[in-house]
Amino acid sequence: MSDKKTALVISAHSADFVWRCGGAIALHQKKGYEVTIVCLSYGERGESAKLWKQEGMTLEKVKTARRVEAEAAAQALNAHEIKFMDAGDYPLELDTDKKFELVDIIRAVQPTFMLSHSTYDPYNTDHMYATKVAMECRMIAQAWGHNPGQKVLGAPQLYLFEPHQTEQMGWKPDVFLDISDVWDNKWAAIQAMKGQEHLWTYYENQAENRANHFRRNSGGMAGGRAAKYAEGFQSIYPRTVDEL
Ligand SMILES: [Zn+2]
Repeated sequence: MSDKKTALVISAHSADFVWRCGGAIALHQKKGYEVTIVCLSYGERGESAKLWKQEGMTLEKVKTARRVEAEAAAQALNAHEIKFMDAGDYPLELDTDKKFELVDIIRAVQPTFMLSHSTYDPYNTDHMYATKVAMECRMIAQAWGHNPGQKVLGAPQLYLFEPHQTEQMGWKPDVFLDISDVWDNKWAAIQAMKGQEHLWTYYENQAENRANHFRRNSGGMAGGRAAKYAEGFQSIYPRTVDEL
């Protein structure tokens, strides 16, 4: 169990992980990691407009539809597991018990790295709240005084995946991940999000643009890698190295 590589995605709503780090999920599964996705809410109120426009829609029906879509997307990405905390959205709020539930998940997964949203998002405060909770629960999971006897968490990197309307969010990528090998999985997962068809091509374009940045930063004209699709991330914590 100790040498198992794992990753944990903390997604505010049930579709965010698809657009923003679907490639990272599929790629790391392919590399032998076990990637667990936690959806704090279904995005049932704020990110399900197409469903709400249908006749006779109810909150429970929307949640069910969103869950089915997210499970199909997770399957397309070959994710190890997807969990739903059903904490509600718009606004998303976790009380202390819910936070401890998330800490239990973090400790059980013992992620090598974590993924969540940008730290600032004036259009969708649920997103930046999810990141605040991710940092808070990472901290609690590291505390020897929280549920003594459980295995405490090390210091997994927290990568912030790319938000919508990137330039408005103060998000600045410092890592580009080549996801060309698993683009078919990500595209299948994107297409599973039938309620948000208006976003499909936007995120295809974004992956192509980030691939341009991957090529430029991996060597550019002097031998950059020929990535076709990529995802960008901003890391929060310093890396510890013996060599630069
Ligand atoms: Zn969202």
